[in-house]
Amino acid sequence: MKYLRPNAIGLRGLILTFVLLAVMATLCNSLWVAYGVQRDALIHSRLEANRAYASKVASSIGQFLSSAHHHLGYSSQMVARDFGNPQLLKDEAVRLHAQDTDFNAVRIIDASGKVLQAYPDQAHLIGTTLRSDEIQQALKERRPLVSHAYVTVTGNLIVFISNPIFSAAGEFLGVVGASVFIRDQGVLHTLIGNHYHHDGTYAFVADDNRRLLYHSDHPRIGEVLTSSPTVDAALRGENGAMDVPNLKGIQMLAGYAQVKNANWAVVAQQPRALALAPLETLMRDMLIKIVPAGLVGLILILLGTMLITRPLQQLAKSANRLSAPNTSEELNAINAWYREAAAIRQALLGSVQRVRQKIGSLSQAAQSDALTGLANRRAMDASLQALDQTERDYAVLALDIDHFKRVNDTFGHDVGDIALKQVAAIIQQCSRAEDLACRAGGEEFVLVLPESSLEAARDIAERIRHTVATTEIAQVGTLTISIGVACRSVDSQASGAILKRADQRLYGAKTGGRNRVVADDAEVQSA
Ligand code: GH3
Ligand code: MG
Ligand code: MG
Repeated sequence: MKYLRPNAIGLRGLILTFVLLAVMATLCNSLWVAYGVQRDALIHSRLEANRAYASKVASSIGQFLSSAHHHLGYSSQMVARDFGNPQLLKDEAVRLHAQDTDFNAVRIIDASGKVLQAYPDQAHLIGTTLRSDEIQQALKERRPLVSHAYVTVTGNLIVFISNPIFSAAGEFLGVVGASVFIRDQGVLHTLIGNHYHHDGTYAFVADDNRRLLYHSDHPRIGEVLTSSPTVDAALRGENGAMDVPNLKGIQMLAGYAQVKNANWAVVAQQPRALALAPLETLMRDMLIKIVPAGLVGLILILLGTMLITRPLQQLAKSANRLSAPNTSEELNAINAWYREAAAIRQALLGSVQRVRQKIGSLSQAAQSDALTGLANRRAMDASLQALDQTERDYAVLALDIDHFKRVNDTFGHDVGDIALKQVAAIIQQCSRAEDLACRAGGEEFVLVLPESSLEAARDIAERIRHTVATTEIAQVGTLTISIGVACRSVDSQASGAILKRADQRLYGAKTGGRNRVVADDAEVQSA
């Protein structure tokens, strides 16, 4: 048989543990999914915003360049009319410089690279031949150009925007060009700086050598980037966004675009961590909204668990005390409100019934004599003790079969047993329902007669004696019995003394010749 471990976990604890685990898992999963969805949405929207921002900046720079080319183109036409006239060239240079404030210096150069005009005045340049790669490229390609950024002999970082000059006959005469200083508060600063965002988003522009023409961290302007996937993609003509680490390894949400007429790259980017900063607030808000509903849910779970487990706990408690006298009442008082609990209660009620029957039959067996079915000595003692507790009258008969040894000796023990049973049945028949007939041992019997006077007891004794003496006992013939009668009313003593007196009367009957009744009063009379 297996015993309950005292520290075994209860059903309520089990249900609560599993439900709480399930609730926590669901909650964590929901928060995790919500976090993922919000994070993806934030990343997507930041990438899109930065892509749009980079496109817008690229388009503004493109407009500036095309307007610059437009102005230079007009000047080309003007100087081509009389290219040999230095005054015309000077006037046009002055006008152009005045027209476009973003031009830091204007140069008119002939097809060999010789400077014909330079404004603002740099008289020492006039007549010199410029051999820098940028000038040579402009002369060679003979089309509107924007140079790489480069550092001039005077130490300025510039780009050179130029337009070819063709005579009316189509002869290439030279170029009109303008230098735009990059480091100063020039055109790029105006175009981009105004758009600076305060959420960590910043932009930079690089030329096709990956040299920074603009960076929100101004000292970096002029630096050449070793590698940059966003700049490379923009220089390939792509326009898009990506989630990439920058040179310092910081993950960035970057948008990029190409400036069409210069093959420059514009990148607008924001550190991913900064873009995701609102997530923390979002998740906190979500938790704050979930907690009250969660608490209500927990209370409901607690109540539900108690409702479900309460009948089972009560049933389990009663199941441990099936033999207790009031278990049936306890079981009936349990509110077994659902089918399984009701079935268990029904089964337990059945068990209580069976236990009672079993105990009843056991106590009957413990109280009765196996051979005759009369009460045994223990039952007799119990009933005499019970009578001792009362003031009621009662009589005791001590009965002994005469010469029974002979029956055994003559007919054998088995026949003796049958005779014993028959005599016991006669004693039982001759007594009243409330009397207690017992086999005191061997061929001796005791009959306890509650509420009985001595006369009534003597009558019953006489009836028994007579019936035994006149009844044919199977295989034996007839038997006789001697009976001693004692009564409480004669000498109210404890049952032990009354029983002893009945035995003395019995002894008297034996010595008096057997097959007779000797009662208390006989001795009193004889005394
Ligand atoms: P008396 O008239 O003096 O009572 O003589 P008795 O022979 O009846 O008395 P005794 O005490 O000498 O013998 C009692 C006999 O009862 C002895 C025993 O063989 C017999 N006896 C006792 N218990 C049982 C029993 O359970 N079954 C049978 N068959 N015989 C029993
Ligand atoms: Mg005897
Ligand atoms: Mg005897």
